[in-house]
Amino acid sequence: MKVAIIGGGLAGCAVAWMFRQMGQEPVVYEAGPTLANGASGNVSGLYNPRFSALRGADADFYAAAYSMALRTFKMLDDIDWCPIGVLHLMDTDKKEKRLHRTVKNWNWSPAHMRLVSSSEASEIAGINLRYDALYLPDGGSIAPKKLCAAYTRDIECHLNSPVEYLDDIVADVKVLACGSAVLKFVPDLPIIPVRGQITQVKATQLSANIKCGICYDGYFMPAKDGIHTLGATFQPDQNHSDIIKQDNQENIQKLAEAIPGLEAGLEVVGQRASIRATSRNRFPIIGNATGQDNVYISAAHGSYGVLSSLMAAHLLVDMIMGRPRCLPADVIKALSPQRFKKRV
Ligand SMILES: Cc1cc2nc3c(=O)[nH]c(=O)nc-3n(C[C@H](O)[C@H](O)[C@H](O)COP(=O)(O)OP(=O)(O)OC[C@H]3O[C@@H](n4cnc5c(N)ncnc54)[C@H](O)[C@@H]3O)c2cc1C
Repeated sequence: MKVAIIGGGLAGCAVAWMFRQMGQEPVVYEAGPTLANGASGNVSGLYNPRFSALRGADADFYAAAYSMALRTFKMLDDIDWCPIGVLHLMDTDKKEKRLHRTVKNWNWSPAHMRLVSSSEASEIAGINLRYDALYLPDGGSIAPKKLCAAYTRDIECHLNSPVEYLDDIVADVKVLACGSAVLKFVPDLPIIPVRGQITQVKATQLSANIKCGICYDGYFMPAKDGIHTLGATFQPDQNHSDIIKQDNQENIQKLAEAIPGLEAGLEVVGQRASIRATSRNRFPIIGNATGQDNVYISAAHGSYGVLSSLMAAHLLVDMIMGRPRCLPADVIKALSPQRFKKRV
C-alpha cells in the first residue's frame, strides 16, 4: 500500500513509524527544511494525559495513549526519554476538586497515579512546595524533535516539499498531519491555531535540586545540561511564531506564583515559539476526512501532542489496514472529523 503523509511533525512521523511497524513503506512530505518544523520542534516536552474529572472518551483516549507511549519510548533510541515523574500542583480550588475527582474516577493503581501532600510532593520534587499534588510516577520528559527523528529513521522523507494540492501526490492513502494547515485541504474543520512560547533558563543552585517535572498553570522541567525548560504561553488570538520577550516574563511569573522564590536569579538563555492546532472542544481530530475515501486526518493535538499523536497513528493504521481497533467505538466517534458535520 502506498501511503503519503503530509506533515513531518509528531503526528506525521508517528503515522510513518506505525505504518513501518506494519511492514509498509510510507513517504513523508514536509514543507520545511527539517522535520519537526512546527509545534513539534521543541528540544524538551512533558508527556502527560489530559486529566478530566470524569471517565469518558477523552479519559479513555489519554489513558490508552499514555500507556502506549511508555511502551513505545522503550523501543526508541536517542529521544532523551526521562521518566522522572511529574507532579501536578493543586494550586487552585477548581484544580483541587478536578484532580481529586480524576483520581477517584480514573481509579488507577496508586503506583501509577496518586494524590500526595505538599510535604510528600516537596520530598519528591527536591524543593519546598506549598500545594498538595497529583503525582504520576511514570510521567516525565522527552525531546519531541528527537522523537520525530527516531520515528522516521529509514523512512523516505521529502523536505522542503509543501503539498499544495492532494491530487499532486500519487498514493493509495493520504494522511493529513500538517497542524492547522489541514484547513487548506479540509476547510470546514473547526481548527484553531494557538501560539505558544517556551523559555529556557540557566539552572541556579536552588533549581538544580529539582528532580521531577512540575505542572501548575505552566510547567517546569528539571535541568538538562544546566538548562531548564519552562512552558508555555497559550495565545489563541495569535498565529505567528515570532519571539516575544514579554512571554518569557509571563512563563517566569507563572513559576513564581506557583513556587515562590524559584524564579530568583533565573537567566533566560533561549526560547522558541510555535503554533499548536486545537479543535473547538480541545479533543484531537483523527479519522477519515468527510467525503474523501482515501484521505485521513491526524490533527488538533493541542498541548498533549506527544501522547495523542502516537495514539492517533495507531488508530489510523488500524482503520486504514482494516484491523481491529485499538480504541472503543465511542472514543473513535468522539475523535472523528465527522463529529463536526452539521445535522440537517
Ligand atoms: C510552546 C509549546 C509547548 C508545548 N509543549 C508540549 C509538551 O510539553 N507536551 C506535549 O505533549 N505537547 C506539547 N505541545 C504540543 C505539541 O507540540 C503539539 O501538539 C504537536 O507538536 C503537534 O504535532 P503536529 O505534527 O500535529 O503539528 P506540527 O508539529 O506543527 O507539524 C505540522 C508539520 O506540517 C508541516 N506542513 C504544514 N503544511 C504543510 C504542507 N502543505 N505540506 C507539507 N507539510 C506541511 C509543517 O511544516 C509542520 O512541520 C506544545 C506546543 C507548543 C506550541
